[in-house]
Amino acid sequence: MSNNKNSMTCSVSKKCGGCRYLNLSYKEQLSKKQKFVEGLLKGYGKVLDIEGMDEPYYYRNKVHHALGRDKKGNVISGSYEESTHKIVPTDSCLLEDKVSGEIIGTVRKLFTSFKIQIFNEKSGYGLVRHVLVRRGFATGEVMVVLIAASPVFPSKNNFVKALIKEHPEIKTVVLNVNDRFTSMVLGKRNITLYGDGYIYDILCGKKFRISPSSFYQINPVQTKKLYETAIEYAGLSGKETVIDAYCGIGTIGLCASDKAGTVIGVELNKDAVKDAIINAKENKTSNAKFYTGDAGEFMTGMASENERADVVFMDPPRSGSTKEFMDAMIKMAPDRVVYISCNPVTQADDLKYLTKHGYKVDKIKPFDLFPWTEHCEVIVSMNKIQGKKK
Ligand code: SAH
Repeated sequence: MSNNKNSMTCSVSKKCGGCRYLNLSYKEQLSKKQKFVEGLLKGYGKVLDIEGMDEPYYYRNKVHHALGRDKKGNVISGSYEESTHKIVPTDSCLLEDKVSGEIIGTVRKLFTSFKIQIFNEKSGYGLVRHVLVRRGFATGEVMVVLIAASPVFPSKNNFVKALIKEHPEIKTVVLNVNDRFTSMVLGKRNITLYGDGYIYDILCGKKFRISPSSFYQINPVQTKKLYETAIEYAGLSGKETVIDAYCGIGTIGLCASDKAGTVIGVELNKDAVKDAIINAKENKTSNAKFYTGDAGEFMTGMASENERADVVFMDPPRSGSTKEFMDAMIKMAPDRVVYISCNPVTQADDLKYLTKHGYKVDKIKPFDLFPWTEHCEVIVSMNKIQGKKK
């Protein structure tokens, strides 16, 4: 597809606000992101060229729609209008996987024919609130998650049967119960209505099991490049003890495991850790262990036991890492730190701290995982300054 200006248009872009860079050509988007990252990080070292996509469309393997009704009573779904809970109905989105979009269309149609009540946020009445579809781009396996205010879903077996009939690629359907009045989409309880409750995808030659609430990067084409670069920067020789901090379902650690001595992963979400442990088994990886817990506490525990690591991959959430985590890491003094971030603003804060405490930035490379949006992923690799323990 071309990189020309306005090669794509979207009728709901103003209301939706998801594609802030729709008025820019893809080339301009990349240059804007490059400058943004340079503005934040160039003081620490040269920022290498951003890695963009060849086909920057329909890249999202996870599609979430909120549900509602329009004035005529028809079921609608889409994203929320910015800073509101008003739904912007979307049938086709530039970013979302097309198959998932079609499945959501069928789900809407079936809600009407099965007379399923749509949840009303104002009154608190009704049943279904959101629908989430995840598709493994490499395997073609699809997961549909129906998020409802109650576990009682009328005619659920027939509903699922009708859905699978139209979309046989669906491997599992999960009913997620969310009866809370918060902005969190998913509740804690998952009830499997069909299949196993998870799907598989393949990334960097490894197989990954994905559960409804586990984090899994949403742009697999770019994620492959991101992970391969992160592992290259780690400079592994086959002997190292590697920590995969904020590991999700163990993707980075497991992709690096063939080149490492031992991999230790830590992650807060216990379902993701369960997936990571199973992923290690499924990939016949015997040198990786995964733990549930706060990464900062875990590292502090390791540091106080004088345990060591040669390389730390850290991939914290948007809020960045914590002083507790970084202090423990500094104490453990790994030779290399590969910091992957989805928010270069907090990453810059953390770099300020780490570069004052014994680390020197080696490489900085941005990756565009989120074309048409202002978001950007950045890898920063750092080396321990020799002779400095702390
Ligand atoms: N490295 C993984 C996940 C990165 S997203 C991947 O590439 O897929 C960040 C992860 O950090 C999420 O899985 C989130 O659940 C986890 N997380 C958030 N806060 C955490 C904390 N305090 N300690 C450990 N993990 C945390």
